[in-house]
Amino acid sequence: MSGVEQKGRSIVIGAMTRHADAANSPILQQALPGLAAVPDSIGDPQVRNRGTIGGSIANNDPNADYPAAVLGLVDSEAVAQLAGEVRGRLERARAALAK
Ligand SMILES: Cc1cc2nc3c(=O)[nH]c(=O)nc-3n(C[C@H](O)[C@H](O)[C@H](O)COP(=O)(O)OP(=O)(O)OC[C@H]3O[C@@H](n4cnc5c(N)ncnc54)[C@H](O)[C@@H]3O)c2cc1C
Repeated sequence: MSGVEQKGRSIVIGAMTRHADAANSPILQQALPGLAAVPDSIGDPQVRNRGTIGGSIANNDPNADYPAAVLGLVDSEAVAQLAGEVRGRLERARAALAK
């Protein structure tokens, strides 16, 4: 439940991954640098070495950094998926008109 792993096209972040470990993860730094940078603004070294991503999200403090960052990530994925669906429909319509 702790650590950051690449599994195929997915990045799996264990709920018990500490903020400091997320910040120092080469996988996150390369694939999701915005998420890896979130801990930079969290508390102090003691908090970053003790607090976890799962605890931050489960705690759901509206002032906390991770819930907002993760929500933004979900939104951008949903928007990308929607854009892909719209593009697919346009391409199918264009192909039908060309017949
Ligand atoms: C002095 C101080 C300064 C801070 N500054 C910031 C800041 O600037 N920005 C920021 O974003 N946060 C900040 N925090 C919050 C901190 O980063 C932690 O995320 C927060 O304190 C939760 O701690 P924890 O991860 O140890 O979770 P815990 O305290 O262990 O748990 C919090 C809640 O989540 C539940 N929980 C924990 N883990 C899981 C899990 N894996 N699955 C389901 N439920 C779970 C627990 O039962 C509990 O209800 C600060 C905290 C302190 C004490």
